[in-house]
Amino acid sequence: MENFDLHNHSTNSDGLLSPTELIELASRTGVDAIALTDHDTTEGLAEAAQAARLAGIGFVPGVEVSVSWGDTVLHVVGLQIDPTAPELRHGLESIRAGRLGRAKRIGEALAKLGFENTFDAAFALAKDDRLLSRTHFARHLVERGAVKDIQAAFDKYLAKGKPAYVSHRWAELEDAVRWIRSSGGTAVLAHPGRYDLKPMMREEMLKQFKAHGGAAIEVVTGSHRPEQYALWQREALEHGFLASRGADYHGPGESPCEPGRLPPLHGSLTPVWSTWAH
Ligand code: AMP
Ligand code: MN
Ligand code: MN
Ligand code: MN
Repeated sequence: MENFDLHNHSTNSDGLLSPTELIELASRTGVDAIALTDHDTTEGLAEAAQAARLAGIGFVPGVEVSVSWGDTVLHVVGLQIDPTAPELRHGLESIRAGRLGRAKRIGEALAKLGFENTFDAAFALAKDDRLLSRTHFARHLVERGAVKDIQAAFDKYLAKGKPAYVSHRWAELEDAVRWIRSSGGTAVLAHPGRYDLKPMMREEMLKQFKAHGGAAIEVVTGSHRPEQYALWQREALEHGFLASRGADYHGPGESPCEPGRLPPLHGSLTPVWSTWAH
């Protein structure tokens, strides 16, 4: 199997490496083709494409779109997108616009818990206030010694149901898939095993994603535990989805898996990249 890694972040969202640094790392870890999939932005794609050309590896332009599906937040990765396509551009802009207000509310919730000025501090760790993410708040809470690591920041404060979690309306699933497809891209459901859904809702999510034009699901990802691969492999085959593979890499010390270091997709699956001319 060619070593495709189709889910990675840079400093243009909540990653720690610049697009160029990410591509250079991927070329050292043996990746044949890499996607940059920052949250709700395509800002880093031009730099990453150029770095991939220099490094001699393949590049897949991508994005990870934040979606609200009922009370559940889903992530939909768009691959082989055209970042200049107007519908996608406007859709992503509208999501980014919402991030600032949400971040202010997270800052207020943390202030009530006794952590003052976290908004400004998180903002200082981000490139742009419209891509402020919970990860920036988590990093700041680690820096100020409130928690021992990022995971603890989510477990204690920032995850759903914890005191600094604020609910927020992201894009509709149907819209996210349409924006991606209208830009010529392939819609991939990111880390389906991360959503806290009972089997019936899980089936419903997959059916609706398919009905809206979703083409693939991530099976092997740094955001699944290895023991989850088999279930999502089965779901891909049962629902007729192509399969994707990606580290969901955020940076040194923060992600369990470097780009390209995941196991291959099982031979029974059809890799999402097999449908692309390359
Ligand atoms: P946001 O889009 O601002 O809500 O932030 C979501 C990001 O936070 C995800 O893409 C992950 O990078 C990170 N994240 C979410 N939940 C966790 C968790 N339990 N542990 C560590 N990172 C998490
Ligand atoms: Mn992230
Ligand atoms: Mn995600
Ligand atoms: Mn991600």
